[in-house]
Amino acid sequence: MAKYVQYPIALFNVTNRCNLKCKHCFVFRDGNPNEITTQNEKSAEEMIKDIKDLRDLYGFERVLWMGGEPLLRRDVLESGVKLFPNSTIATNGTLPLPNFGKSVIWSISVDGPEEINDEIRGSGSFKRIIENLNSLPENFEGDLQAICVISKKNEDAIEELICSLQTNTPIRGLILSFYVPKNQDTSDFTWKNLEERDKAVQMALKLKEKYPEYILNNENGLKLMLSKSAPPITANCPLKKIIIPFYLGKTSFEIPFCCYGNDVNCDLCGSWAVFHTASFLNTI
Ligand code: SF4
Ligand code: SF4
Repeated sequence: MAKYVQYPIALFNVTNRCNLKCKHCFVFRDGNPNEITTQNEKSAEEMIKDIKDLRDLYGFERVLWMGGEPLLRRDVLESGVKLFPNSTIATNGTLPLPNFGKSVIWSISVDGPEEINDEIRGSGSFKRIIENLNSLPENFEGDLQAICVISKKNEDAIEELICSLQTNTPIRGLILSFYVPKNQDTSDFTWKNLEERDKAVQMALKLKEKYPEYILNNENGLKLMLSKSAPPITANCPLKKIIIPFYLGKTSFEIPFCCYGNDVNCDLCGSWAVFHTASFLNTI
């Protein structure tokens, strides 16, 4: 059998369907495997078999379940989380969260207080997240985390989001990530350069100082995002060495350029996971 490079973590996009249409979504960018076809929505049994085969080739022991909205394939998740000692499910939080047990981290995307979040992620989405979180049963066992993608659109509203999540939800803590632009990105989400982004990174560092437990990023990871330290990290992306991404292609899983798909501008990448990983590795 051919020898495959081994990865500790895999990302699986288990559906290309989503119940939201977020303006900054990287999954539905042109050039990604993201078409909704009848072939790629295999039965849970078939998809789990594909995942097991890939696990045996690449050796990963931890999975980040993603979509589209992965809870639209609850049947795949239910069996999939049992295959690995640890899983993270990246969800938009607008569908009920099943109790899949202690091994699951729920990473719920929320991009600002209600008005800003809903402008980015769709009307009513913030309320649905809050309602879902507050109707979880008492015996719910998963670890509830939120993740916010900071961009030019919401950079001034992050503390308000923290206070709202702390007051209104059982979320244990918040990860701050930054927008990952595509090449030639002209949207109003992106900063023009890293120096322009620094103000937002400095704000995140201040929030880490003020809410040290609630902000789940480590301080060094945030510092590495600053313009003086980011370029050598993104030029030699540490995430590509530890996570193998599988997007859903027309007939089977396909490996895109990185977790953020095929059309990405690494120079301005703000993925928290890149810098978090770099803070633990001797990559700089
Ligand atoms: S919920 Fe996620 S997959 Fe769906 S549109 Fe929004 S960012 Fe994209
Ligand atoms: S865009 Fe992708 S490959 Fe580039 S630095 Fe970010 S995570 Fe790494």
